Amino acid sequence: MTTNHVIRPRVFTSDNVAGASPEMIAAVAACNSGPAMPYGNDPLTLAVEQKLAEVFEREVDVFLVSTGSAANALALAAVTPPWGSVLSHSDAHINRDECGAPEFYTAGAKLVQIPGAAGKIDPDILAANANKMVGDVHSVQPSSASITQATEVGTLYGLDEIGVIGEICRGAGVALHMDGARFANALVTLGCSPAEMTWKAGVDLVSFGATKNGTFGVDAVVSFRKELSSSLAFRRKRAGQLSSKMRFMAAQMDAYLKDGLWLRNATHANRMAQTLAAGLTSIPGVEIQQEPQANILFCRLPLPMISGLLDLGFKFYHDRWEPGVVRFVTAFSTSDDEVADLVTQARAVATKSTLLEAR
Ligand SMILES: *Cc1c(COP(=O)(O)O)cnc(C)c1O
Repeated sequence: MTTNHVIRPRVFTSDNVAGASPEMIAAVAACNSGPAMPYGNDPLTLAVEQKLAEVFEREVDVFLVSTGSAANALALAAVTPPWGSVLSHSDAHINRDECGAPEFYTAGAKLVQIPGAAGKIDPDILAANANKMVGDVHSVQPSSASITQATEVGTLYGLDEIGVIGEICRGAGVALHMDGARFANALVTLGCSPAEMTWKAGVDLVSFGATKNGTFGVDAVVSFRKELSSSLAFRRKRAGQLSSKMRFMAAQMDAYLKDGLWLRNATHANRMAQTLAAGLTSIPGVEIQQEPQANILFCRLPLPMISGLLDLGFKFYHDRWEPGVVRFVTAFSTSDDEVADLVTQARAVATKSTLLEAR
C-alpha cells in the first residue's frame, strides 16, 4: 500500500496518453448539425484539403485516416509493389510497431532495415541498398524508403540530411515516404516550412500525424505525386479507412491547423521535454542520452531510481532497451507541474538511495 496521494497524472509513456485539445471537442460539436455529404464530399473535408495545400504551398492529395499505422501502410502500399522492398531504419515504427501492416497492405513487400546512428538511416548504406540487385528477378526490388521525422528516439533529420536522402532515392527511382507522426514537433524545432521539410527535399508522400499532437483520432496521407491519387483512394476504401461521416474527422484536422494550434501544441510539448532534460541532468547519476530535439527524451537512470519512480506511480518505458535506459515522452497537454513533479521525485529517490548507501 502506498500512502502517497498522487494528485497529478504521472504518465510519460507516450504522447498518445494526452486527451485532445479542447478545440477538437468544440469543432466536432460545431459540425454536428444538419446533414453533410458522406465519404469526404462535405465542405469541411474540402476545406482541409485546401488548408493542407496552403500549408505545403502546392497542390496535394489528402487522405484522412483514423490511425498513423493506416497512413503509413497505405502510403507505402501506393509506392511499393508486392515484389518490392521498403528501406527504413531498424528502429522505425513501421518495422517494429505496426504488426506487419506495411507488409500486409503492400501484399508482401519486404521491409529492409537500414542501420544508422541516432535513429536516422545512414545515407551510404541506404544508397547501397537502394541500388542493390535491381532487375534481378531473384531479389526484391528497392521501391521505397521511409524516414521518421521526428525519429523514434526524438532526434531530427536536418534539411540537408533529408535532401541527401531525397537525392539518393530519386537517383535510384525509389519513392521517399516520411512518417510524420511527430511532424509538427520536428517542424517547430527546425524552424523551416513544411514544404522545405518534405517535397522541396525530395519527399514524395507524408503520413501527416495529428493524433499525438491534439486531435482525437485523425491523421492524413499527404501525397505530392498526383499519379498516386487514384491508387490511394481505392486503397483507402479497400482498407476500410474511408469514413462515411468524414466531416467529424475533417473538423478535427481543420481545428488542428487553425490559427497555428498544431504548431503551438508541438512547441509546448518540445519545451516540456527540454525542461525535463534540464531538470534530470542536474541529478547525480542521470545521463541524458540525446538532447531532445522534439518531445521524446531518452536517458539512463540508476536502477534504484527507476524502481523508486515506478513505485511512486510514474509510468514510462523502462524495460525495452539496455538496463537503465528509459524513455519519457511529453505532450501538448503536459504541464510544468507534471514535469517538476517528476524531477522532484527523481531527486528525492536519488538522495534517499545515497543516504542508504552512506549508512
Ligand atoms: C505513434 C506513431 C505512429 C502511428 O501510430 P498509431 O498508433 O497507428 O496511430 C506512427 N509512427 C510513429 C513514429 C509513431 O510514434
